Parts: sequence; C-alpha cells; structure tokens
Amino acid sequence: MTLRGRAPRRGRALRDLRIIRDGALLVRGDRIAALGTRRRVESLRGARRAEKLNLGGRVVLPGFVDSHTHLVFPASRAAEYEQRIAGATYEKIARSGGGIRSTVESLRRATPRALHDRAAAHLREFAAHGTTTIEAKSGYGLDWKSELKILTIVAELHQEQPLDVTATFLGAHVLPDEFQRRPEAYVDLLTRAWIPTVATAGLAEFCDVFCDRGAFTVGQSRRILSAGRACGLVPRIHAEQLAHTGAAKLAIEMQAASADHLDKSDRDDIRALALSNVVCTMLPGCSFHLGLRRYAPARELIEAGAIVALATDFNPGTSPTVSMPMILSLACTQMRMTPAEAISAATINAAYSLRQHDRVGSIEVGKYADLAAFDVADHREIPYYFGVNLCSLTMKRGAIIHHKIP
Ligand SMILES: [Zn+2]
Repeated sequence: MTLRGRAPRRGRALRDLRIIRDGALLVRGDRIAALGTRRRVESLRGARRAEKLNLGGRVVLPGFVDSHTHLVFPASRAAEYEQRIAGATYEKIARSGGGIRSTVESLRRATPRALHDRAAAHLREFAAHGTTTIEAKSGYGLDWKSELKILTIVAELHQEQPLDVTATFLGAHVLPDEFQRRPEAYVDLLTRAWIPTVATAGLAEFCDVFCDRGAFTVGQSRRILSAGRACGLVPRIHAEQLAHTGAAKLAIEMQAASADHLDKSDRDDIRALALSNVVCTMLPGCSFHLGLRRYAPARELIEAGAIVALATDFNPGTSPTVSMPMILSLACTQMRMTPAEAISAATINAAYSLRQHDRVGSIEVGKYADLAAFDVADHREIPYYFGVNLCSLTMKRGAIIHHKIP
C-alpha cells in the first residue's frame, strides 16, 4: 500500500490506498529510490547489488504517523482505572486531586534519567507496532523547570531515534495547583514568558491547549495559541472532548494544524471543519479506555469532506496504548470507518497534520524509507485482528528497527 498521490485526502480519496501487488522498493540511504512491481524494481541497475529483504506474502504500508501522544510521563494511573470501573468519572477523579494533576506531581519529582528511559522503552514499543513518526506533548510539568525537562527529553529522543519525535508545547494542559485561583496570571505567564522562550530555543514546533470544561476557556485558549503563533509555533487544540465549548470553531479561526478528540462536536462544527484545512484527529482509544459509548463522528466528518486523522493519544490517564493497529480496529468497529479510510487517516493525513507529508506518510520516491510490514493477507486484516500484534518488520529511515521474521 503506497498511499502515494495528493495529500491530504478527503472523502472518497481516503479509500484509495494505491496498492501495488507483488511490489518492491529500492532503498538508498534513508530514502526510497525506486518503487513498482517486483519485476520492474529488480531489473533496475541500482537494484542488482542491493541487499535483498524478502517480505513475500506480507502487506507493507507506510509506517504509522501517530500525531497525538503524551509520551513522557512517570507512571501508570492503574489505581484510577480501578476507581473508574467502580463508578467514579474521569472529571470527578480530577477534582479530587487525581487525574492529570497526580501525574504532574510525580513528574516534578522524577529524575530526567528515569523519565527518559521510560519514554525510550515506549518508543521501542511504538516501533514494534509499526509506528515510525510520533508527536509528543509536554504538559505534565506545568512549572518551567519541569516543562523544560520534558521538552529536553523529547529532543534527546528524536536525536537518538529510532523514531522521529516532533515536540508540542502543552503548558496549557490544566491549571497547575499554584494557580488554581489565578487562571489569568497563569495565561500571562504562558503567553509572556514560557511560549516565547520555547519558540526561541527551538524546543517545540507546535503549541497546544486543552480547551475544555475544567481546563481552559475559548478566550484563554485564543490568547495562548495567538501568542504561540506570533512566535512561530503552529497551533493544535484539544477540542470538544468532555463538553461542547466552541473549541472546534476556534481551531478554524486560528488556522490550527489539528483539532483533536471532537467527540462532542455538532453538525455546525462538522460543516465548518469540512471547509477548512484543520485536520480532525480522532482518538478512539480514549472512549474505549474510559468505557464511554460516544465516539467522534467519523462518518459525518468524512462524508462532509473533512480531513480526518487517527492517533493513539498515548497517555497514562485516558489512553494507555502505543498500538496504532488497535486504534484502527476501534475506528472500524466503533466509528464505522472502512479499513482503507482508517489506514489513510493513520498515515498520510496524520503526516499532513504534522506538516511532514513531504517526507513521511506514504511510500514514494524521495520520501524516507519508513515502512511497516504486517503478517496478513490483505489490508483489511490489520484492523480485523485485534489485541494481537501482527507487525513483523518496521523500518525507519532505511534502518530496521523491529523485526520478528524468522
Ligand atoms: Zn491529548
């Protein structure tokens, strides 16, 4: 499945995976040098002395692009998981000092080494499930020293590879305890000090806000994202997850790269998003893990012509999974996306939302050799089998970073 051609994809184009049967590709250095049927590629002059990797009988696709993760955190929140099963809601747990604030408290105490090693282990698991590029947000520090600690680790992980890791500054995740009664003072701190410093130091490419009930208002979010944009950080927004707030419309107004979640978006939002270039990133792992019945309106968004993407939202509170294949299963079964639509959403459209569609997200000459091979007979079997990892090989920039082929 090459997914080559125009990006991003909307509507019916999401179903066009550009499959080459009995295909092959030639990798030179970190890039794809040629692509086509096996016969054609094997006859190329440059292919004769190439090392051969036989993936016969498997499905090969572009490595997944996971455009929404909270990669760096100190520990699981399994105790809350148990409380929720017993009936407590996510918001009730948050009000009683659990939730994001409990992760913040332990992250502030954690050493950079421990956080780094934990995140690096997660990256190896992402790779083992076919993911080759991820976005990673700060937002569990919420004081300058701790936010800097997270962004520094993200930069180190990108340097070390095996995955490309793009940083997003999410200082506006929730209000830190020290600012509970002074939200505007915290917004001032973000807009006047932290955001300009993050941008100047090149510590992030994007600026995100959790614009929702219990987090930041539309007005505060507008100030924060405007400050980011003024110094070159592209906006992203956590929108319409817990309540309908108007965050999706704000995403359009701010020309955000993406509006993420959208579970509570209404018809008016869908129509407006479809006319925009904002990528609608759906995160079905959250609804699944929180045991909610409501998922983002994928069918309506696709039929209206919106740009849709899928991501894990990997985080300890609401979506502790690194598995894009599991996200595809949820998208197909719970949101009625077709397997092909889900695959387009998890590769080329996600790459577009990270502004990296010129180098990742599809298998095309000149792009990075970022590939995932699955032990399945056709692409529909990737979401069809769930709870099992059938990814047998992952390649990042031409290097094999995961394999279990005998
Ligand atoms: Zn998130």
